Amino acid sequence: MNTPVPDYLADLLRNCKTAHGGELADYIPELASADPNKLAVALITLDGLLYSVGDDDYEFSIQSISKAFTYAYVVEKLRLEAVMQKVGVEPSGEAFNEISLDQTDDRIKPKNPMINSGAITVHSLIPKAENDCRAETVRQFFSQLAGRELSFDLAIFQSEKETAFRNLSIGYSLRNFNILESDPVEIVESYLKQCSINVTVKDLVNMMSVLVNDGILPRTGERIFSHKTVRQVLTVMTTCGMYNAAGDWLANVGIPAKSGVSGGIIGVLPGQVGLAVFSPKLDRFGNSVRGIDIMQQMSRDMGLHLLEGVPSSRVIVNDHDVEQIRPGLKVYKLHGVLQFTDAERLLRKLQDEEQDGGTIILDLSHISLVNDVGRRMLLDGIDRLRADGHNVALVDPENIVPHAKTPSDFEPHVYQDLEDIAK
Ligand code: GLU
Repeated sequence: MNTPVPDYLADLLRNCKTAHGGELADYIPELASADPNKLAVALITLDGLLYSVGDDDYEFSIQSISKAFTYAYVVEKLRLEAVMQKVGVEPSGEAFNEISLDQTDDRIKPKNPMINSGAITVHSLIPKAENDCRAETVRQFFSQLAGRELSFDLAIFQSEKETAFRNLSIGYSLRNFNILESDPVEIVESYLKQCSINVTVKDLVNMMSVLVNDGILPRTGERIFSHKTVRQVLTVMTTCGMYNAAGDWLANVGIPAKSGVSGGIIGVLPGQVGLAVFSPKLDRFGNSVRGIDIMQQMSRDMGLHLLEGVPSSRVIVNDHDVEQIRPGLKVYKLHGVLQFTDAERLLRKLQDEEQDGGTIILDLSHISLVNDVGRRMLLDGIDRLRADGHNVALVDPENIVPHAKTPSDFEPHVYQDLEDIAK
């Protein structure tokens, strides 16, 4: 049996193929020649399982999405208090390349690290390593998170460097207030090189898995960021990650996110999933049009909005809860809350388990809550188990899944009590 997640993602792309609003970014000349039809989406679970569909091997320059990860890097290396002296956390409500500085606490500083003035300052705080090149430090760090060697897109870098008048003026203004402490041209150029690092949507969700998993990279088990760093980065992504459309995004999608002008958007729901989409045409705020559509749809379908999420039970079924009552009859005892993350994990468990074609009973007596997507995935899973030749029934004394009917119109038998099965 396969989990329904890959089919779900493929449907999502199919349904979105028609939406073609927006324009390619052209202020970096090289970006104007991007293929507007490219479309990809990837999802990573808390324990690091990756799903992806569409042009998921297509590389594009990371652009502003890099800001979230370099901010995390610098906060972790320098400590938050030191970084806060240089860059604030207030949403600006202005365009990303606004030459905006905030006067707070008698100190002039960029409003937040997600706009260019803040991101250039953050870049300047990266300790210079032996290679004497901050962009190279960033490339190596991103490669570590992505789990493969990433490269710079030198054509994009060159193209942006030749037309970087606005970013250079931001650099000079930062230098004027001593926020940058050395040559602004060198720092701005190195920041542009950071933006030119090539990634795919799969790289992005691999990089994000560390934010989903509270600072630990699930692939290696290594702690990369402290809890405090992760919380700080996600906070800033929530309030400032979507340029000047951050409020709309929070209302409609409701997950910490960051977008970039090449057409990527990442979204993180801590403890649950990391999402990445790519489609190059942008709206007037600089966010990918189809990217927003897809993220909005996923948030709705999977019940991901931060403020309506119910706490995940983390593990709803573990080995001790699978009971072989007699040969050919297995009971899966589920606990806690059944929402996207838990349903995905349950279906994966059923998929991985070697099935013997017997009867499977899903015992819902200890489920306290099931949301819409949890219910749909459970019923879809029943169809898939049946397609593999199993009989499936439910134990549901509290009527948690009322009028259970699968997408193929199958109505599983519902027992009131586990004891009834033995009779
Ligand atoms: N390299 C771009 C810049 O600094 C990144 C912009 C973006 O993705 O928002 O202008």
